[in-house]
Amino acid sequence: AKSAGKNQIATFDPALREARMEHARLTTGLRQAIAQNELTLNYQPVVSLGNGEITAVEALLRWTPEGGKPVRPDVFIPIAEETGLIVPIGLWVLEQACADARRWHEEYGISVTVNVSGRQLRDESFSDAVLGVLERHRLPEQALVLEITESMLLATTPAETQRIISVLALLREHGVRIALDDFGTGYSSLAYLRTLPVDVLKIDRSFTTALTEADHHQTHAFTKAIVELAGSLNLRTVVEGVESGEQAGILQRMGCPLAQGYLFSPPVPAHRIDDLLHLTPWQ
Ligand code: C2E
Ligand code: CA
Ligand code: CA
Ligand code: CA
Repeated sequence: AKSAGKNQIATFDPALREARMEHARLTTGLRQAIAQNELTLNYQPVVSLGNGEITAVEALLRWTPEGGKPVRPDVFIPIAEETGLIVPIGLWVLEQACADARRWHEEYGISVTVNVSGRQLRDESFSDAVLGVLERHRLPEQALVLEITESMLLATTPAETQRIISVLALLREHGVRIALDDFGTGYSSLAYLRTLPVDVLKIDRSFTTALTEADHHQTHAFTKAIVELAGSLNLRTVVEGVESGEQAGILQRMGCPLAQGYLFSPPVPAHRIDDLLHLTPWQ
């Protein structure tokens, strides 16, 4: 029986079968998500560690299928990338984020950061689409930051990588800024820092978490070195996932200018950002 079953594991494993069906359900649902108004954006403040003021907000996508529970981005973003649905969804995100950010920018000089996938950047029309959205919402290029990850370059051919770099460079010439997200988690972070046109480094949450754990000396040294390197390259540094005052204090003493995390605010709906802005300077 054992040998007979060997080739059939994939077909008959009930857990795998269930996972496949779930994947298919999510794919079908995601195709209709924009038309059914099931997508929303939350925004998480990026704050100055010096004075607590909000300098930017990161748009984070939320999906609640009709009549269902919210699906986590970690689950649906990869499906959107596989199916190419991330292209229309990503445009929806940009459009909504720029619409929401206009007043925040006009009244408080706040910029908005939007996560983009490699799949979007490989699309020929991406830079025109971005510039078009900015123009439609009369948001200056300087108000937009696009967040990319080094992992998005892993699956690309050298020619595609080159194309992505030139798309980013073009947007940057127009004044749009580029942030390298999840910095320090990949195996070639430093190499990408040399090849990618970036303005902002976002140090991954895993560093922040480790700063206050038992064996923190190495993490402390690494984080400090990254902050100093970024400073000498004229990059802005944002530390992600700050959850405690202790972490914020350590990072501030290291000279890290900006931070993001539950200590300051979780991602919240746009109207909550309005509320928070009236409370600045903000503790
Ligand atoms: P990310 O870009 O690294 O976003 C940061 C994630 O960390 C968010 O998870 C945020 O809610 C969470 N976070 C923020 N502060 C803290 C903290 O203090 N502690 C902890 N434990 N977590 C914190 P979220 O919203 O679930 O998003 C997960 C990922 O999904 C994002 O990671 C990003 O890679 C992707 N994503 C979200 N929205 C979009 C989008 O519009 N487009 C694309 N392409 N990807 C997106
Ligand atoms: Ca991000
Ligand atoms: Ca991140
Ligand atoms: Ca991420």
